[in-house]
Amino acid sequence: MKIAILSRNKKLYSTRRLVEACEQRGHEVHVIDTLRCYMNITSSKPEIHYKGDNLTGFDAVIPRIGASITFYGTAVVRQFEMMGVFAVNESVALSRSRDKLRSLQLLSRKGIGMPDTAFAHSPDDIQDMMRMVGGAPLVIKLLEGTQGIGVVLAETKKAAESVMEAFMGLKTNILQQEFIKEAGGADIRCLVVGEKVVASMMRQAPEGEFRSNLHRGGSAQLVKITPKERATAVKAAKVMGLNVAGVDLLRSERGPLVMEVNSSPGLEGIEKSTDKDVAGMIIEFIEKTAKPHRTRTKGKG
Ligand code: ADP
Repeated sequence: MKIAILSRNKKLYSTRRLVEACEQRGHEVHVIDTLRCYMNITSSKPEIHYKGDNLTGFDAVIPRIGASITFYGTAVVRQFEMMGVFAVNESVALSRSRDKLRSLQLLSRKGIGMPDTAFAHSPDDIQDMMRMVGGAPLVIKLLEGTQGIGVVLAETKKAAESVMEAFMGLKTNILQQEFIKEAGGADIRCLVVGEKVVASMMRQAPEGEFRSNLHRGGSAQLVKITPKERATAVKAAKVMGLNVAGVDLLRSERGPLVMEVNSSPGLEGIEKSTDKDVAGMIIEFIEKTAKPHRTRTKGKG
């Protein structure tokens, strides 16, 4: 097969591993810098050009789109879809998962467990909003944040009010969430590939920190997940329409709660802590699934 990996940097661990997995399995693979793709949209025959060449003959595209280029990246993936190329994660699902609020609304509609979450626009509504999520301590999150940046634990009502006022004053979008104390600074990352959890790890925050992100000094270890956790992760990826996803769960007294569904999950932490060939499993999924015009939305929407 001829496979494109949309990635800004060939040297990233995840990109390198996907290239390796393609080559090991006998495929032709091209790493394409998303921001250097340009598109002919006026033509009846959709095209993508790249550094002067017309990109043709691809069977599948693996989008690895960073949060900062979601808008342009999803447009490129949509163009591939219009050309009939199978996208491992389709453009509509990518946009959906990048919008934290939209994602939580979709997950809640399907009855998937999640921390109680509230969203408001006006500072006048802060008090009632805090009551909605059960009062302090509570977690405040910037909607645009990644890697734990802009996630704050407000331990008291006063602290929550000050942080909320500061964020709202900056005209940023924020949400408030019930603090899941019993998670103990740990979360579980489930790597879903084609309706299966193929690997899972537990990330533990360092002493004195509640955020378990590896970028924030968290450590990862292999974890055995329960059937309920497995089913929740698979369902969450499905609701988002993602074939490949990193689903983050918190272990709570009322069962697994989904925090986030990531559409370009990093492979380094999960492969190293589980010793699994996740990249190989993604390519295997493509081999089984990719057919021209197989993307469900075919670039619509
Ligand atoms: P990001 O998308 O920036 O990584 P997250 O929403 O995943 O932000 O939050 C970062 C970390 O903070 C999580 O991995 C988890 O350890 C912790 N965390 C987030 N929300 C909660 C919550 N409601 N209760 C307890 N811990 C939380």
